[in-house]
Amino acid sequence: MSSNFSFWEKQYMQALDDIVIIGAGIVGLTTGIYLKKQFPERHVVILEKGMITDGASSKNAGFSCFGSVTEILDDLETMSEKAVIDLIRLRGKGLEELMKLTSQDDIQFQKCGSFELFDDLLDEEAKEEAFQKIDMVNGLVAEALDFKNTFEKRKENFGFKLSPTAIFNQYEGQLNPVLLVNALRKHFKECGGLIFNGAHIIDVDTEKGDISLENQVILAPRRIVLCTNAFTKNLLVDLDIIPYRNQVLMTKPIKNLKWNACFHMDRGYIYFRNYRNRLLIGGARNIDLLNEQTDEYGSNSTIHKHLINIIHHRLFSDESIEIDHSWSGIIATGKSKQPIITKMSDSVYLGARLGGMGVAIGSAVGKSLAELISQDIS
Ligand SMILES: Cc1cc2nc3c(=O)[nH]c(=O)nc-3n(C[C@H](O)[C@H](O)[C@H](O)COP(=O)(O)OP(=O)(O)OC[C@H]3O[C@@H](n4cnc5c(N)ncnc54)[C@H](O)[C@@H]3O)c2cc1C
Repeated sequence: MSSNFSFWEKQYMQALDDIVIIGAGIVGLTTGIYLKKQFPERHVVILEKGMITDGASSKNAGFSCFGSVTEILDDLETMSEKAVIDLIRLRGKGLEELMKLTSQDDIQFQKCGSFELFDDLLDEEAKEEAFQKIDMVNGLVAEALDFKNTFEKRKENFGFKLSPTAIFNQYEGQLNPVLLVNALRKHFKECGGLIFNGAHIIDVDTEKGDISLENQVILAPRRIVLCTNAFTKNLLVDLDIIPYRNQVLMTKPIKNLKWNACFHMDRGYIYFRNYRNRLLIGGARNIDLLNEQTDEYGSNSTIHKHLINIIHHRLFSDESIEIDHSWSGIIATGKSKQPIITKMSDSVYLGARLGGMGVAIGSAVGKSLAELISQDIS
């Protein structure tokens, strides 16, 4: 460590010589919590570049979900049945862990269920296939999570212009992402962990085991744990991590928005929910993959138009519904849909590539990463 730190600051920062986690998203925070619970005497510090987090954990849609029927069928096209079951299990286990680490009230969790909707103009074939294969997909979920009859065909009158015949999943729910991050931060601090915000790491030397911060400070802690998800390739190259931007729109309050559930469309690429009578809608990166393959925040007018068209013409027949706010967030995908949980060198570890369901798998990844590290320090 160098720079103009005072005696007091230097003393406080001695904690940075032990276990340093980079990234205060769901994975970084839960890794920290599990490590502190197992090793209360060890110093565990999280370094985070953003004011709260600057990643997907505080910018997501807040669905606690494990995959719609068409998403699972899509996965079966490219993955073995066992791999698909393992992934569903990981999502279910992650949600279970998350609920143990927080309280439902603190994170505004509602087990409201979810619906997969179909656009009769575009999705006729996908809809037929999904309805035909519900029992088979229910079998996979039962094997993964022991849930009975997860998906069922339902006709519901939400007042949307889309077909009222949907697939209902009683086990899914929704929460407030920032309250979730805050609850995990609180839990980590109560375990004795420290979080430094505004700490931007610009380099990680896996062989030397040191990290360089933007302010020219260099740290050489005993363990370095990267929980930087889509931004990992800025620090470590040669990884199968592809960042994708996701657009999200929030409308002004809409009168008579009576339903309260999460909705999936187009194989999970589009999602929407009611948040206090506002419609949150996001996704659709599949319509402009080239421009959305980036880890830079920014808006995409083609996707905004597509989502607004869905609001005005596929859900409602009301062009007066106005957008109040929009933002983007970055997810990490790759050739594989499994997260990376690995040791990169003697002292450097990585937990990343959480895909589009990191709220679900985040704490399971944090737990496995902490277990991996604990084998080396116990
Ligand atoms: C718009 C959107 C909607 C989504 N909706 C859902 C959903 O409804 N349900 C669901 O399950 N999942 C959803 N996801 C996915 C989910 O949010 C992520 O998979 C999950 O939050 C990833 O958590 P993480 O901790 O791995 O990464 P992140 O939350 O991205 O955290 C990584 C952290 O590392 C920090 N960091 C990165 N580089 C550095 C550096 N060099 N120095 C210091 N700090 C650094 C970042 O600032 C960030 O805080 C969504 C994602 C997006 C973008």
